[in-house]
Amino acid sequence: MGKDCIFCKIISGEIESKKFYEDDLMLCFYDIHPKAPVHVLLVPKKHIVSLAKVEIKDKDLLGHIQLKAGEIAKKLGIAEAFRLLTSSGKKAGQSVAHLHYHLIGGWENNSEEMEANPESL
Ligand code: AMP
Repeated sequence: MGKDCIFCKIISGEIESKKFYEDDLMLCFYDIHPKAPVHVLLVPKKHIVSLAKVEIKDKDLLGHIQLKAGEIAKKLGIAEAFRLLTSSGKKAGQSVAHLHYHLIGGWENNSEEMEANPESL
């Protein structure tokens, strides 16, 4: 567990979240400040700071999260059009130092709504 890591606290249940999916390796919950009509976060339970810090031993975990992203998109009803995004490093916009993927979608018309604000994350 990362010291004072907000996502570790969400994973342990110390901080509440609106969970959408959970298994042994990861948790998926709704982003508290959604930047798209549908916006959830996919978070490994293991405290990894960012994609820049992953190790070869994490490859199954990373593969698992990507496979689940497609399944979760289906369950959320956004499988037709979604984005899976991660930021690595503060300068890239990473505000929580625990690896996470934004799964966003649910736009009404083509990608206009999304393209209006492509860098909002
Ligand atoms: P990033 O800026 O890419 O590191 O993404 C961090 C995301 O975590 C932001 O979109 C925040 O809105 C979200 N976030 C921060 N705290 C919480 C929380 N307690 N519950 C749900 N989402 C959160």
